[in-house]
Amino acid sequence: METMLKDCIYLDNNATTKVAPQVIEAMMPFLTDYYGNPSSMHTFGGQLAKSVKVAREQTAALIGAEESEIVFTSSGTEGDNAAIRAALLAQPEKRHIITSQVEHPAVLNVCKQLETQGYQVTYLSVNDKGQIYLNELEASLTGNTALVTVMYANNEIGTIFPIEEIGARVKEYGAIFHVDAVQAVGKVPLNMKTSTIDMLTISGHKIHAPKGIGALYVKRGVRFRPLLIGGHQERGRRAGTENVPGIIALGKAAELEMLLLEEATKRERKLRDRLEQTLLAKIPDCVVNGDVKNRLPNTSNIGFKYIEGEAILLLLNKHGICASSGSACTSGSLEPSHVLRAMGLPYTTLHGSIRFSLCRYTTEAEIEQVIAIMPEIVERLRALSPFNNDEAGWLQQQEHTLVNR
Ligand SMILES: *Cc1c(COP(=O)(O)O)cnc(C)c1O
Repeated sequence: METMLKDCIYLDNNATTKVAPQVIEAMMPFLTDYYGNPSSMHTFGGQLAKSVKVAREQTAALIGAEESEIVFTSSGTEGDNAAIRAALLAQPEKRHIITSQVEHPAVLNVCKQLETQGYQVTYLSVNDKGQIYLNELEASLTGNTALVTVMYANNEIGTIFPIEEIGARVKEYGAIFHVDAVQAVGKVPLNMKTSTIDMLTISGHKIHAPKGIGALYVKRGVRFRPLLIGGHQERGRRAGTENVPGIIALGKAAELEMLLLEEATKRERKLRDRLEQTLLAKIPDCVVNGDVKNRLPNTSNIGFKYIEGEAILLLLNKHGICASSGSACTSGSLEPSHVLRAMGLPYTTLHGSIRFSLCRYTTEAEIEQVIAIMPEIVERLRALSPFNNDEAGWLQQQEHTLVNR
């Protein structure tokens, strides 16, 4: 690769994170000397099983769960898929699912497929801050509802859902409550012991562990059916020889998150607010997307009117700054983000929205550099835009391109 990420100002931490040096150090021996199979009967296997147990305890501790409630998976995506399937298989008589319009594709696309298999799916709408309406949830719940699956915090805008208020209503109807907490873990304190959540998804690479490892929390007593069938690994809840280096890495990453959560999030919030408030003050016609009162401390999604987010990203990239226009999964297509669309944002902001997502490695100097460069970039692009300040003209052009695609 020509440019290395380490030379960049990396503000795309909701897409993926750098592996923490302590995590690399912890997992390395398991890629070299300790290559055994934890299910093997010899001492070698036994030692590995012990290390896996420690990692399971570390992962459980981060979310206030028991060690036995953690199932290691390959990813957040697998966790979401496994939870949804398990909930439906456990209650075959129920055929209704409730989710939201702003979920990650790992939930949304599973639900879409289930619709073709005879399930009825309710996609809860959101307001202009990306919050669901609790009364719409109440109106949608029935005795036929098998599962409510919603995200803890949104990856694009950072909006945090009122999870326990949702959970209380879900429990009244006896449905299973699954939460995709991939973005909340390590950023929000979580305690499964006092929670209504039945299943919760975690992904390693969003919390400074490598890609390809994740965990699903399954509350004790919740009926579970495995997605992957084969050997007896993970107490029969997920077949396949364990990804031992990945598991050790996730355990270490979880331990670090727990240790650093309070201090790191306080710092990130301060840097994020400085970035956001300064940009808003310096640049005309821009708005913050999301719920600023209930939001992840590391995320800022800003809409710059009258220009294209992709163009902003290209210019930022030239200055060595990595950000994102919403979801990494939809970029590459020119479709505006399904999250921002669900929020009903006007066309002018829909296309010019940029997400900055920080992490504990983000420095003050990096934020100052973004603050220094961003006004120029926006000004330059707006000067090129024939519709600068012309809402009607912009709208017409957008409709034209949509029709002619
Ligand atoms: C990244 C992400 C996922 C997917 O996790 P992977 O480990 O990349 O499969 C799921 N949900 C949310 C909210 C995410 O941000």
